[in-house]
Amino acid sequence: MHLARFPRRRYTPAPTPLERLDNLTRLLGGPDIWIKRDDLTGLAAGGNKTRKLEFLVAEALAEGADTLITVGAVQSNHCRLTAAAAAKERLKCRLVLEQRVPGSYRADASGNNLLFDLLGVESIEVANAGDDLAARMQAIAASLGAEGRKGYIIPGGGSNALGALGYVACAQELVQQAFEQQVRIDHVVVASGSAGTHAGLLVGLEGANTHIPLTGVNVRRPRAEQEGNVHKLAVETAALLKLERPVETSKVVALDDWVGPGYSLPTPEMVEAVRLFAAHEAILLDTVYTGKAAAGLIGLIRQGRFKRGENVVFVHTGGSPALFAYQKDLQS
Ligand SMILES: *Cc1c(COP(=O)(O)O)cnc(C)c1O
Repeated sequence: MHLARFPRRRYTPAPTPLERLDNLTRLLGGPDIWIKRDDLTGLAAGGNKTRKLEFLVAEALAEGADTLITVGAVQSNHCRLTAAAAAKERLKCRLVLEQRVPGSYRADASGNNLLFDLLGVESIEVANAGDDLAARMQAIAASLGAEGRKGYIIPGGGSNALGALGYVACAQELVQQAFEQQVRIDHVVVASGSAGTHAGLLVGLEGANTHIPLTGVNVRRPRAEQEGNVHKLAVETAALLKLERPVETSKVVALDDWVGPGYSLPTPEMVEAVRLFAAHEAILLDTVYTGKAAAGLIGLIRQGRFKRGENVVFVHTGGSPALFAYQKDLQS
């Protein structure tokens, strides 16, 4: 795999830290827990979308676009980071926000919604679950075109094959870092949403023949549907990289035991995970993604799925700015 063939902007100057969580390891009494701090990537308040945007924005610039158009939920980290990349690159940004929970958009909401405004988003359109979001973005691009401007459409979560290269790069970085820090990685756990992070990591770990098992923890969809989405995107990403071996379906694991009642809706396990990581490791998770993924990690440890002495890496994909919009779900 030779990622340097693809144009890339750099928004994070150095590898994100790989840290051992001593307190949580001791508290849970299972495997050694490590964390890949992708909450510390560049752009405003960081998170996993920064790595995808490095490749996507490079393509937008190469095509001469002046506006980034994208879609996300009402507290989307992806929309916040797309707006941040636009500000940095002197581009405009237009958002379509999907009310996955009916009535969830509030113009005066805190969290990422406040940051959309601070980062200078040019317009926000609100859509409902079930609306044709791709058509909404196409319509924005067409209206920009009519004004002599040029939009570049980024799919939800930045999750197409080009965006997923950001997580192929993360897998390479992690494996190199583990070598330098002399950590034998036995397992990786990550949140699985629009699938780009999960698919990219899978292609990166498999393409380098690491044989490190990867477990995704769903935040929205039933297991079979999500595993289908991840596999499809992994195949497309592997094709973009001209990898010779197909990605095996047996390697795609996306557990749905910690989704709870639905996307962004709280669960007791999520609240426990957010509170444990904050109180014992001073690490801020979020309620929608990393809180549920960490609940999955903790649940798997309690089920005895990992052995003592094994090293399990939790990929922290960011999201803490949204905490301030979900205060009521968390307060003790
Ligand atoms: C988007 C997001 C995810 C999920 O990543 P996908 O690539 O969409 O699967 C996980 N954590 C956070 C904080 C996110 O914003």
